[in-house]
Amino acid sequence: MFESLTEKLTGALRSLRGTGALTEANMADALKEVRAALLSADVHFTVARDFIARVQAACVGQAVLKSVSPGQQVVKIINDELVKLLGEGTTELAAKRPLKVLMVGLHGSGKTTSTAKLGKLLKKKGARPFVVGCDIYRPAAIDQLEILAKQEELGFYSDRVTKDVPALGTTGLATALAQNADVILFDTAGRLQIDTDLIEEVKKLKAAVTPDEIILVADGALGQEAVNVAKAFHDALGLTGLILTKLDGDTRGGAALSIKSVTGVPIKFIGVGEKTADFEPFYPERLASRILG
Ligand code: GDP
Repeated sequence: MFESLTEKLTGALRSLRGTGALTEANMADALKEVRAALLSADVHFTVARDFIARVQAACVGQAVLKSVSPGQQVVKIINDELVKLLGEGTTELAAKRPLKVLMVGLHGSGKTTSTAKLGKLLKKKGARPFVVGCDIYRPAAIDQLEILAKQEELGFYSDRVTKDVPALGTTGLATALAQNADVILFDTAGRLQIDTDLIEEVKKLKAAVTPDEIILVADGALGQEAVNVAKAFHDALGLTGLILTKLDGDTRGGAALSIKSVTGVPIKFIGVGEKTADFEPFYPERLASRILG
């Protein structure tokens, strides 16, 4: 994951990792390289600029240049700032049961797959997940969800006839509760772009099922576009978390590094492949140290 970014950052920090003396000039050079590495990973321009400013301020505040091992201290400061960028604090779903989770996102983002992946993960942790297929416009999406639900032994409900999404949601919820489910995941309809109809429909579903979590599934390979999508969904719906998908392959990392600080919404899970097992809770500390190599 993010191999190119890691390679560039490792290169930028190589001169700092030694224990020798460090001058203001070579520290500034290293930070310039760090900034370039972030920008080439498609990190949002202001996010990269503010990141470097915070690292510089922390270096001055902690009198790094006068310390015993200045280089290592700078690397530590960069690590800490990366963790802040990726999102401090809890990235877990609310512990409340029953837990109602609305899964939203654009078409093709990996929403249906992620709904099944999340169900599988929760089931492994002892929950009784249930998925409700609310994408009435794409029978294939409902079929896909049903197949995945069967495969992962998750409860499932949908209605391929109705045109009333809130009613579908309410009936799905009642069915789930009657079957003793304790986490109910609603897979909503996606569109190619954010449009008012889509948002209005999700708002009505939200009012009908009163979710505890509204999770946006965003395609991490889209870089800054994913950040813009997240911002628009958050403004309209009030998101409680994000799932960034497709972080496998050659994704550069810009979305993962910018999305929390631009939107204020924490990444809770990441998708790292097409299989239902290719899904992980998001740990900022782990990713920060992985990125720093
Ligand atoms: P939806 O339209 O948002 O419901 O998207 P789907 O769940 O149907 O996924 C769209 C495509 O992305 C499918 O081919 C999935 O297998 C693929 N996909 C979903 N998540 C990931 C991921 O984390 N990594 C990769 N490589 N592919 C993914």
